Amino acid sequence: MKLHEYQAKALMERFGVPMLPGIPATTPEAAIDAANALSGDLYVVKAQIHAGGRGKGRFIEDVDAAAISAAAKGEDAPGKGGVRLAKSVDEVGQIAGEMLGKTLVTKQTGEEGRVVRAVYVCEACDIAEEFYLSVLLDRSNNKVLFMGSKEGGVNIEEVAETNPDAIFQVHVDSAVGFQAFQGREIAAKLGLTGRTARKAVGFFKTLFDAYMGLDCAMLEINPLVLSEQGDLIALDAKMEIDGNALFRHADIVEMRDLHEEDPTEIEASEFGLSFIKLDGNIGCMVNGAGLAMSTMDIIQYKGASPANFLDVGGGAKQEQVEAAFRIITKDPSVKGILVNIFGGIMKCDVIAKGVIGAVKEVGLEVPLVVRLSGTNAELGKKILSESGLDLIPATNLDDAADAIVAAVKGA
Ligand code: ADP
Ligand code: MG
Repeated sequence: MKLHEYQAKALMERFGVPMLPGIPATTPEAAIDAANALSGDLYVVKAQIHAGGRGKGRFIEDVDAAAISAAAKGEDAPGKGGVRLAKSVDEVGQIAGEMLGKTLVTKQTGEEGRVVRAVYVCEACDIAEEFYLSVLLDRSNNKVLFMGSKEGGVNIEEVAETNPDAIFQVHVDSAVGFQAFQGREIAAKLGLTGRTARKAVGFFKTLFDAYMGLDCAMLEINPLVLSEQGDLIALDAKMEIDGNALFRHADIVEMRDLHEEDPTEIEASEFGLSFIKLDGNIGCMVNGAGLAMSTMDIIQYKGASPANFLDVGGGAKQEQVEAAFRIITKDPSVKGILVNIFGGIMKCDVIAKGVIGAVKEVGLEVPLVVRLSGTNAELGKKILSESGLDLIPATNLDDAADAIVAAVKGA
């Protein structure tokens, strides 16, 4: 689950990560109040969307199509961005008014952009240096990975492409915890020395604590800045929480912003389905993540690509199967559907009834291949054949993949 910058920072505050004070606002008036409550006389107003690259982003309502297409590529374009400096409280209100309700396009949103529903008003800082630092899980090492670069700021993707050597890695064993020598190593690799380097060790420890304590899947600080006053500050924060750990964080679940999520994925999660939209044209309905993976693999192997990953789970009920089928058929890129079920706890007759129920409700305009095996498979097949539904039965995974790929390619 992704969070907005202001939410991520509120959570990081609990772990003592050094940051600048800031207050979120959803109206220009609230933004003015926020600025009044902050100290200093320079502010930064930041559009809150679940995407980075806001500084170089552009608003669809403000600029022409060429500028939007440049912004979507992360290139410089005329117009004003989603992170702006304000020199007075009134200007904070004015900028908030110019951002709220508009659609911001950045390198990470695609050309359709995202609607800005909140801004974050922060104190401004005198930046001496900008670094990149992120904390994530390195699955190949079973370790927490700090990834950093001296070339921080807004262009880290470009650094990764053109100068990958400028990005360093330091691994931390989560069972042992963060060690001071690892902090010194990160500090040295960022080119920090003396007192700043010593302070940095404590800073990195707070980041590690936040990453672990919040069950993050990813925590990215870009930029991590060294201020003119010699302080290290997390100036931006991008945080993703591991969905499998959300049951431990009721407070974080409340921060979920459904506006930022794919409507189909929301519907799927309401029915307890694991659904991920993909780029291909064969809709898949499968039970069990392992079977879902092998189904996607065999579709690729046979020369086509899956339109989604959809796991109805081990003991899905008829309504869930109906919802799953509805979600798949709603996707206009789906040119054929493969239902591949191995009945264990899941009973194949439940799948059959669910498919029939869904087709009655939403119709079926694309070829459908069904492979049922395991518990109640014969009953399921009987129910399907007696329903008169126009489907292609398959006996095993290989046949099923051949049939759906042929049907989609022929169509
Ligand atoms: P994004 O990554 O979405 O573009 P950032 O928060 O990283 O958004 O902001 C982009 C740039 O704006 C930063 O690299 C930094 O130079 C500047 N900036 C952001 N917040 C502040 C702040 N509070 N004070 C001064 N400069 C800031
Ligand atoms: Mg940033």
